[in-house]
Amino acid sequence: MSGSRFLIVEERAALPLHRQVHVSGINAYRSCPRRWYWTDEHMGLGFEPRERPDWIVLGSLVHRALELYYLTGTPLSDALDIAVGEDWDRYGPSMLEEEKQNHSRLCLVAKRLLSNYHSWLARSGADDDLDFIHTEVTFHIPLEEYDIVVAGTWDGLVVRRSTGGLYIMEHKTTRNVPRAVHGITWDVQPYIYAWAAEKVFDRPVHGVIYNIISTADPYDIPLLRNGMPSRAVRSTVQTTLQAYRETIIRCAGELGIPEESALELYAAELEYLSQAGDSMFFHREEMLVSKRVVESTFHQFVTEAHNMLETARRARDGVLPMPYKDRYKCPNCPARDACLAADEGADYMEILESTMKRRNGEGECTSVESLQMRLPLL
Ligand code: SF4
Repeated sequence: MSGSRFLIVEERAALPLHRQVHVSGINAYRSCPRRWYWTDEHMGLGFEPRERPDWIVLGSLVHRALELYYLTGTPLSDALDIAVGEDWDRYGPSMLEEEKQNHSRLCLVAKRLLSNYHSWLARSGADDDLDFIHTEVTFHIPLEEYDIVVAGTWDGLVVRRSTGGLYIMEHKTTRNVPRAVHGITWDVQPYIYAWAAEKVFDRPVHGVIYNIISTADPYDIPLLRNGMPSRAVRSTVQTTLQAYRETIIRCAGELGIPEESALELYAAELEYLSQAGDSMFFHREEMLVSKRVVESTFHQFVTEAHNMLETARRARDGVLPMPYKDRYKCPNCPARDACLAADEGADYMEILESTMKRRNGEGECTSVESLQMRLPLL
């Protein structure tokens, strides 16, 4: 590795912040340049919803717990307690009573989810061949020739023991595992993460391992007016088949429904889940990366990075970024009111300020040197 090309955490203050392009921003930019500019914390205005959506709370708790589990060997339940404590310290004081109750509920969901994840690891042996080198590592790679700094965060760096191959691990918390599996091959992010790891460690990256975890709650199956559990649970059920079966039986018991009847009602779903097995809830997907694809993706990334920088520059000069082409497809956008106001020529900044809030703080980085020491095959 040629040290001068890479900046580590202590030098962050010297980075040209306005030229930093975060890999994770690409998808947000592609989906809607306007929302990206308003919400991006690095190149944009850094607004976020006043209340964190459930999936963000759950995702961050799970990510942090996995980080501690894989890096320090902290048991998952203890790791989650730490994650919950940190999250509570940061957000708890400003939560309303209703939010606090919801937060407690999400913590329980995360607890069950990780408990099931732990069982799945033991059954599947998914980690048996992996050495975890580091987790949640932020990198900044200045590229003078392109006048940008490529930034991003690897969820994990792992080495496969049997082959010695270096892999990026990405945790993906999602409502729907099959859909997530379908979507990953179209993502630019893993290729750029692989490109970055090759730059930093000066050795080939064999691939990206997606650690996909469903975030649905097996215990919150909605009940119909007649007291029966809704059949619509299939799309939202979480974690393991075992948990799903237990839930059905528990619901049936609470409602005084014979267990056989409840299971009969769900026969189709159970058959489906039996076929899908654990892959409904936890899944490892390994994507190999070839040098050619990484290189071509990198050039595509640089082009998009320049588009993003130009969009941000023009936005700072008062040119509103283009919206997503079809607003009917973005009803859940937290910036929707401001977006509609902007198109009508109204004061959208005032609406942004009143309906959203500014982000604050950034995650910590890990020095590249400490990573090198942990990589056994450098
Ligand atoms: S409402 Fe739709 S078009 Fe407007 S900022 Fe949000 S995602 Fe973009």
